[in-house]
Amino acid sequence: MRLSRYFLPVLKETPADAQIVSHRYMLRAGMIRQQAAGIYSWLPLGYKVLKRIEQIVHEEQQRAGHIPLLMPTLQPASLWQESGRFDAYGPEMLRIRDRHDRDMLYGPTNEEMITDIFRGHVASYRDLPLTLYHIQWKFRDEIRPRFGVMRGREFYMKDGYNFDLTKEDALHAYNRHLVTYLRTYERMGLQAIPMRADSGPIGGDDTHEFLVLAETGESEVFYDAAVTDIRLGARDIDYDDKAQCQAVMEEFTELYARTDETHDAEEFDRIPEERRRSARGIEVGQIFYFGTKYSEAMGATVATPEGERVPVHMGSHGIGVSRLVGAIIEASHDDKGIIWPEGVTPFHVGIVNLKQGDAEADKACEDLYAAMEAAGLEPLYDDRSERAGAKFATMDLIGLPWRITVGPRGLKNGVVELTSRRSGESEELAPEAAIARLI
Ligand code: ATP
Ligand code: MG
Ligand code: MG
Ligand code: MG
Repeated sequence: MRLSRYFLPVLKETPADAQIVSHRYMLRAGMIRQQAAGIYSWLPLGYKVLKRIEQIVHEEQQRAGHIPLLMPTLQPASLWQESGRFDAYGPEMLRIRDRHDRDMLYGPTNEEMITDIFRGHVASYRDLPLTLYHIQWKFRDEIRPRFGVMRGREFYMKDGYNFDLTKEDALHAYNRHLVTYLRTYERMGLQAIPMRADSGPIGGDDTHEFLVLAETGESEVFYDAAVTDIRLGARDIDYDDKAQCQAVMEEFTELYARTDETHDAEEFDRIPEERRRSARGIEVGQIFYFGTKYSEAMGATVATPEGERVPVHMGSHGIGVSRLVGAIIEASHDDKGIIWPEGVTPFHVGIVNLKQGDAEADKACEDLYAAMEAAGLEPLYDDRSERAGAKFATMDLIGLPWRITVGPRGLKNGVVELTSRRSGESEELAPEAAIARLI
């Protein structure tokens, strides 16, 4: 992409009403625009990051055999009347009446709808296990939408649902989701710690939230510092292997890590004092096992091998896709702007031409641009006639992991400058060598 032809409405002023750094940088970097309280347009740069995060979520879900589909944003109230949640959900649910006076709602989550799909099409244990998921916009009429996309009213969520014959199978699905989530967040350059949590309006006993530690987080958390040393890394996972998934789950959840709702001061005090931590965290996902709560209420049953009809065991599993954009920035920035982890960056590398209009500099940039595209990289070429300082400031703000700076002086010696956004270190290299470093 050439910046002269892109739409990157960078703001010079720091927006006064943005209280946390991710919100400020998302506005300043032209990633989002607020359209109403908690409702945003995703401008091209923000949209690109959102799509990269979404893609990672898809890949990791499908790696575990989970099947994507797409349910609508609008739902009939009747499904929620069956489960009893139409009244129970409260004012966070946006209720709508259509022209025929039918009660509708903008879905805050999809347990009822997926259970309806299941009962309409699945009748036998032979079709289990089954996990279906979608990534779709949700609406919750939050009492205090704030912090930009972190607590929106309209937000983008991955929500997945498992259907199993037995509790044991459903707990395997729970563990499997836990592992997929660990891998998903690690690919985004994030550490998200599974913490024992409260199940809220979804219901059920087994639930973990995934928390990214950050001072601006809205959740209060308590944990053993040793949990922050565990990584999933590149280990091979067989998602059908119950014992392996369970072992990973235990490894990541045996140390004390809880949100304030489930915090137990006595147990916490048993952790050696130097490892006791209380901090703030951002909830970027949650997994639930809730048994037959919805399948019983809505008649989602299957025939067992013995021919008996039993309600299926279910769980639901959510990732805050749009919240993650903010959470990643909270976890990775400096005073100049965002620092994107490679896994989610909107462009791989920025090219800064120090002397636009200089035939040699222009040609060197064009050659780099073409070579990068040929190598499968996505560059953002700042080809505007701006001062070098302004170009650097924009690149620092939008946070691409690498910058290549091209100017007549370096070109005389056959070199360009390659700079890491994270370390700030620069190196002079021949253009071909710079590209080789990025592949
Ligand atoms: P919170 O405690 O922050 O209100 P929640 O527990 O109500 O979140 P879940 O029902 O667990 O949310 O939904 C799954 C995920 O969706 C959450 O872990 C979070 O990352 C994301 N999410 C929930 N509400 C919002 C929101 N208002 N804006 C952006 N993301 C959200
Ligand atoms: Mg909530
Ligand atoms: Mg919560
Ligand atoms: Mg939650």
